[in-house]
Amino acid sequence: MKDTVGMPQTDSADTLAADALAGFQADQAAEATCVVCGSPSTTQPTDPRPSVSSDVDAAGLPATLPTLQLCDEHWSAYHTDWLLLGWCVDHYAEALRFCDVHQQNVPPL
Ligand SMILES: [Zn+2]
Ligand SMILES: [Zn+2]
Repeated sequence: MKDTVGMPQTDSADTLAADALAGFQADQAAEATCVVCGSPSTTQPTDPRPSVSSDVDAAGLPATLPTLQLCDEHWSAYHTDWLLLGWCVDHYAEALRFCDVHQQNVPPL
């Protein structure tokens, strides 16, 4: 497996999937999208990150969570407790929903 992160390739349709993956990993600053619906993120650098409880190790969470990217709609939902977020392996997702990628229900943060 070649490490092409940081080297976006757009010259072939075959690279679209790999390109999308690279984009997903590198989009924290550029074209971030809402972790719930995929709309353009309106997260600001000053927005708070989710706080992680002390049982981080047990939950398998990374030591430092990446910036939470949400659209306006889901930010307001999150702040009014209508939206429960979880962490699935290596990405945010709406808690308790089934992740097709990892074949599991997303545990809440
Ligand atoms: Zn959204
Ligand atoms: Zn997942």
